[in-house]
Amino acid sequence: LYVDADLDAGQAVALSRDQAHYLFGVMRLQTGAAISLFNGRDGEWRAVVAEAGKRGGVVLCEAQTAPLRMPPDLWLLFAPIKKARTDFIVEKAAEMGAARIVPVLTDFTNAERVRRDRLQAHAVEAAEQCGGTFVPEVADAVKLSALMDRWDSARHILFCDEAKVGEASGLHAATPGPWAILIGPEGGFSEAERARLTGLDHAHAISLGPRILRADTAAVAAMTLWQQALGD
Ligand code: SAM
Repeated sequence: LYVDADLDAGQAVALSRDQAHYLFGVMRLQTGAAISLFNGRDGEWRAVVAEAGKRGGVVLCEAQTAPLRMPPDLWLLFAPIKKARTDFIVEKAAEMGAARIVPVLTDFTNAERVRRDRLQAHAVEAAEQCGGTFVPEVADAVKLSALMDRWDSARHILFCDEAKVGEASGLHAATPGPWAILIGPEGGFSEAERARLTGLDHAHAISLGPRILRADTAAVAAMTLWQQALGD
């Protein structure tokens, strides 16, 4: 269970109404039951239920059962698309172990308002589902051009370019260091964006195979490729 509180031996953690409903209403846990907690910073902790109510509860931290497991330094930059598909991208990025998730507004992005808090909640749920101890931060949406203006060139960009469809992936395991994967919107990248990105020494344009994938599929495929070639 994810909690937004410091975790330490003897620490009492108050549960929200939703958490109490899930633990005591759905899972039927009672006082004295053991549960696992994480907060994205302090690893995984064993805790016991001290108070179980309908609208809240308290659990007491006992001992750390696993240290914080940091993911590799991989960011996912993606152009937001329809709400359900954007949610899917964030969920899968958190499951795959992205360290940071950044919605980028590109020339052809036509998504409505991007709700950072909603996407962050999806990242938390995904980390809970797959037993992670780390929760990736979802950044505020930012214009791709502004992001490139202040980009630290030590971080390589895996630029997934639909114009390379059908070519070999072009991803080689040779380049270590922090990486960011960049996925475009439904309409792909504009020629101006493609020209700028291909002109950057630290950006590597790659193909994701013989077909043009939907943006959400492309994000998962790219993270898998990266993990295979460069991840740990
Ligand atoms: N129109 C479809 C949709 O509605 O989702 C296709 C979108 S595709 C243009 C979205 C993004 O996925 C691209 O900008 C690119 O980043 C990535 N992508 C999809 N297929 C790709 C491929 N074969 N090679 C490289 N990148 C690809």
